[in-house]
Amino acid sequence: MEKILVSACLLGQPVRYNGKAFSFKNHLLGVWQKEGRIVSLCPEMASGFPVPRPSAEIEFLREGSDILAGSSQVFEDNGDDVTALFVEGAQIALDVAIANNCRFALLTDGSPSCGSTFIYDGTFNNVQKQGAGVVAALLVENGIRVFSQRNIGELADALKRLSHK
Ligand code: SF4
Repeated sequence: MEKILVSACLLGQPVRYNGKAFSFKNHLLGVWQKEGRIVSLCPEMASGFPVPRPSAEIEFLREGSDILAGSSQVFEDNGDDVTALFVEGAQIALDVAIANNCRFALLTDGSPSCGSTFIYDGTFNNVQKQGAGVVAALLVENGIRVFSQRNIGELADALKRLSHK
């Protein structure tokens, strides 16, 4: 049975910076939960962030891979540098994925940790840009396929293809 690492906030857990869950409903999550496939994790909580917490963005024009390369930083909207905790959260996510043999992850898009197709541009002006967060970048670097909630159908197709092999 293929396990899937899933952002905890996608599963209704109120762990986001604003103390809320991410509003997302899809019957596949219920199916996968019943099948025992889902490994739920909030990397930011795992590295010690509280709930609620200040919002955070990766520096202007940078993304998760730059954080992992040590060439950029993550800041909270109050100016605090929280890069180390973001990297720690990503490492925990990778460790959890490996421990559970996860080859797939379904992560909340837009987050400086979990975003996979877009993040925010570092100006705290609600401007999106293409790019991945720190967790998504580290998982992809380690061969784990990352899907955003908007691409959950593609993840279902990938699982189906594997089950037919
Ligand atoms: Fe959700 Fe990921 Fe942010 Fe945690 S780190 S609140 S799981 S998007």
